Amino acid sequence: MQESNTHREVIIVGAGPVGLTLATLLRRRGVDVLVLESHPGLSRHPKARGVSASSMETYRGLGIEGAVRAVSLPAEHVRFFRGDCLVDEAAELTSGAAAAESGSANTPSPGALCSQDRLEPVLADAARAAGADLVFGARVTHLNGGERGVVVTVDDRDLTADWVVGCDGSRSIVREQAGIELEGEQGLGKYLSVRFRAPLGDAVRGREATSYFIAGGKGGFLAIDNDTEWIYQYPITDGADSDALRNDAARLSRLVRDAAGIPDLAVEITDTMLWRMDACVADAFREGRMLLAGDSAHQTPPTGGHGMNVGIADAQTLSWQLAAVIKGEAEAALLDAYTAERRPVAAAVVERSLGNAGRAYGIEDELLLGSGYAPASALPEGAYAPSGAPGRRLPHAELDAGGSVLDAAWGTARLLVAGEAAPWRVAVRSAALPVDLEVVSVTSGEWASRAFLDRAGLGTGEALLVRPDGVIAARADADAPEGWLSRAVSAMLRG
Ligand SMILES: Cc1cc2nc3c(=O)[nH]c(=O)nc-3n(C[C@H](O)[C@H](O)[C@H](O)COP(=O)(O)OP(=O)(O)OC[C@H]3O[C@@H](n4cnc5c(N)ncnc54)[C@H](O)[C@@H]3O)c2cc1C
Repeated sequence: MQESNTHREVIIVGAGPVGLTLATLLRRRGVDVLVLESHPGLSRHPKARGVSASSMETYRGLGIEGAVRAVSLPAEHVRFFRGDCLVDEAAELTSGAAAAESGSANTPSPGALCSQDRLEPVLADAARAAGADLVFGARVTHLNGGERGVVVTVDDRDLTADWVVGCDGSRSIVREQAGIELEGEQGLGKYLSVRFRAPLGDAVRGREATSYFIAGGKGGFLAIDNDTEWIYQYPITDGADSDALRNDAARLSRLVRDAAGIPDLAVEITDTMLWRMDACVADAFREGRMLLAGDSAHQTPPTGGHGMNVGIADAQTLSWQLAAVIKGEAEAALLDAYTAERRPVAAAVVERSLGNAGRAYGIEDELLLGSGYAPASALPEGAYAPSGAPGRRLPHAELDAGGSVLDAAWGTARLLVAGEAAPWRVAVRSAALPVDLEVVSVTSGEWASRAFLDRAGLGTGEALLVRPDGVIAARADADAPEGWLSRAVSAMLRG
């Protein structure tokens, strides 16, 4: 490893989608970040493909939504295929997420189907462009957390950091060495994921889908490009010798041909990966100066298509809380709010995805738009409905001049006011707040949005205090008492 600067504000362990997103978000807030990744490069073998609306809104804020969409499947491929084989003329096609690229009423950035091996290079470029250092081939083997920082051992070399975030997946060494336990069920299923090349584009032409479920216990296909790049998911039955199977390319090719229903298909196996379906959540997402985000903190059955998306939302919340602590705007206790806020959301998503496991895969693109923190519930009972209540994500609404209200001062704390901004700006100046607080009028000027008043239920003179992660922290009445602003901002920074 060639990293000459041996002390960093934050070391992120793992350059998966969550670690890379977190690195970019932290850099945008001016935090010094080093990412350590054990593999020599980015993922060659994709797991996640469904990037939901909540994640795309994060990428919109980072200015990389277009780059992610450019390497995604076309929106019309977002549907499910169920048949006896790929050339089954009677196969059923059902629609998946509402992935119209132009947006829905609830989001300016609907979900996309972007294979992890295509997403990660976009995220790595963004992280580097933001100034993060990424080191590959650097396996973390030991961590020692103290009151003032953490010693991180890589290849017999010690680095130190004020904070370490484990974005190192389900077998997280950070979680293990922080002594954090997992709760939940493991081994709900075991699958062999086979990455292969084969000319299947003609076979699926006009019936392209994102996932192809094949009847008769044969597993299914996941499209990477719906042409020559594919994943075959094969269920491993109890007692089967999965290691022998994964090393037998001829047998794997036969299984692929059989499931495809094309006996003479030319198949080139390029990689295999064994994975286990787990449904677990860590007891805590923080121990001292070590934090967890993504699969290290929760393992969600892929039947909901949300594992990575929940992790990206972890990154969004953790990045502002950690940056606020590092900049001295908040006490370290704010990081306890990170567990208190994110754990119930992760647990609710795990439960919801387990429900899907009994039925079929489902894509609820807008599910995480409805996630919330106390006093709001972790997930909505039914479909997403916009709200201006504290604890909920700021709802999208069209600006009168076009665009989304979500773009108003993205990434910083802000006050959205239904009325004149000037008196609130005076209040902000005289309150001498510990954070920069942008005041934005949603009734006049460039951020005016009649739709927003309706969607957030905001009356004349009312205001919303919005955290840098887009969550509504507090709501002011038209006659909010003097001192409301200071109290609301202090409470936001206490968590
Ligand atoms: C078949 C399948 C389909 C899925 N589909 C979806 C989907 O459609 N949508 C969705 O949201 N989720 C999906 N998921 C879940 C998703 O893949 C995971 O939630 C996501 O990959 C988690 O991202 P992560 O960055 O937290 O961890 P990972 O992607 O696991 O990345 C962790 C990184 O840490 C590195 N690392 C590990 N240990 C160390 C160490 N000691 N030192 C340094 N580096 C280390 C690893 O090499 C790896 O690069 C799916 C999962 C599966 C199995």
